[in-house]
Amino acid sequence: MAEAGERRGPAIEPREIAQDGSAALRITWADGLVCHYQAAELRRSCPCAQCVNEWTGQRMLKPETVSEDLSMKDISVVGRYALNFRWSDGHETGIYSFRYLRELCESSEESGRMKAE
Ligand SMILES: [Zn+2]
Repeated sequence: MAEAGERRGPAIEPREIAQDGSAALRITWADGLVCHYQAAELRRSCPCAQCVNEWTGQRMLKPETVSEDLSMKDISVVGRYALNFRWSDGHETGIYSFRYLRELCESSEESGRMKAE
């Protein structure tokens, strides 16, 4: 996945990554912003090559195919820059860079799906 921009610093450094039950995740960033993520929303935003056409950037995954009951089976840190989730539907190929997670949080503030405090 192409990484847009060269954003660095505390805005993309997680201070704390905490699972909030089996279907929610909370990330506290080094600059103090707290972001809440729902498993189903994160799964729908999966950036892997199966879910997004890597040439056109078009999302191949149909949002309605992801159950609202989806949960996280496992979360692991990839390198020092990203998270990988294993979902209850068996999908586990998405690498969510911290920059991408931060952008998801900020861009969804208006829609209110994943809210920042
Ligand atoms: Zn995927």
